[in-house]
Amino acid sequence: MTTSMLPPLALDDADPEIADLVAQERARQFYCAKLIPSENYASQAVLEAAGSVLANKYSEGYPRKRYYEGQQLIDPIEELAMSRAKALFGSDHANVQPYSGSPANLAVYCALLPQGAPNQRILALGLPAGGHLTHGHKVSATSRFFEFAHYGVDPVTHRFDFSAIAAQARDYRPAVLVAGCTAYPRIVEFDRFAEIAAEVGALLVADMAHIAGLVAGGAHPSPVPFAAAVSTTTHKTLRGPRGGMLLCKSAYAQAIDKAVFPGLQGGPHNHTTAAVAVALKEAAQPAFRAYAAQVVANARALADTLATEGLAVVTGGTDNHLVLFSTMPLGATGKQAAKAMDLAGLEANFNSIPFDPQPPMNPSGVRVGTPSLTSRGLGEAHMRDVGRWIARAIRGKDDPAELARIRGEVFDLMGHYPPPGFAPPYPARP
Ligand SMILES: *Cc1c(COP(=O)(O)O)cnc(C)c1O
Repeated sequence: MTTSMLPPLALDDADPEIADLVAQERARQFYCAKLIPSENYASQAVLEAAGSVLANKYSEGYPRKRYYEGQQLIDPIEELAMSRAKALFGSDHANVQPYSGSPANLAVYCALLPQGAPNQRILALGLPAGGHLTHGHKVSATSRFFEFAHYGVDPVTHRFDFSAIAAQARDYRPAVLVAGCTAYPRIVEFDRFAEIAAEVGALLVADMAHIAGLVAGGAHPSPVPFAAAVSTTTHKTLRGPRGGMLLCKSAYAQAIDKAVFPGLQGGPHNHTTAAVAVALKEAAQPAFRAYAAQVVANARALADTLATEGLAVVTGGTDNHLVLFSTMPLGATGKQAAKAMDLAGLEANFNSIPFDPQPPMNPSGVRVGTPSLTSRGLGEAHMRDVGRWIARAIRGKDDPAELARIRGEVFDLMGHYPPPGFAPPYPARP
């Protein structure tokens, strides 16, 4: 062995510092109640594919049109991912190369609004109403390349007001209308958005990053029949590896592919592509339909309990995987509440609510979701426990002993429900 060759050491021996941090994070993920609605637990099979030697390979280009040799096994992997995506979502075309949801969105805009095209206007949901940064927020690079205007939600119902959105679209005349959100607890009516887009001559882009798993499992209407292009992440409700994906009508396939590579990216992450293929196979199974339905049933039970406990649930409930609520009725800002919940083993994030009187860095609300806990096998009765723990943590935000008591109860329950992707031996309680 020459000195330049690395000995075959496991992570524990090669880098104990990193190994120890990973082990601690594994224990944290095992015992905490993960309530962040954009997170999930990928399966053992997905994690294995994502951690495979496919990461060593360069494959710029697309199957059978590559700029590097040695693609005999990479091509069928990417083709499997593409064909599974098309079959699962019923789309004409799939591009599985976007590194994540944000680059996928930039790629869509680049594809549908070619350089030099006279109309570069995009109308999307604003961040304060539940939109995403990549929908043209001023701190996002998306706003440097395209012109954006934003619609909001109805001031009373906090739901989409389609006559207001249509009026704004008629006035603004966007070339692209974006439908999709990160903090909207209700059904996104893609058919209604499509009608508005058609009326003003815009292309509809659907961003289903949060709800892709619900769409795959039949628990949310699909945007695919209505949108020119659909962008998504693969790691949220879809329960795959961290990644992004684009689905589109045949007419836009070439533009989408060019926008991803060579427009924005270099070599695809082949290990991720393989893991996406695995996740898509899992999502096509009957068990995943049951999972998606349970995610929604669990979110409803959680919303119900939070309301009973005196928290102000935005829109009064939920149709999907998430619940947005104001913590102010219990005397805490969203940030104070989220910090108290974290100490109690309940992991969530503070979030603005529509028309929030509080500033974005210390808003009125907290956002919680059920994808992760449902992946662990928890049902509605457990969600009622979780809802009560959340309320107790917020009420007890200044009482470390109470937060420690809740944390003990949370850890007890989680210890009985190992997440997917966690093989024995299970971590010791932190
Ligand atoms: C999460 C999300 C994204 C971005 O995904 P990343 O993988 O974090 O880049 C884009 N759009 C929406 C609606 C999202 O929820």
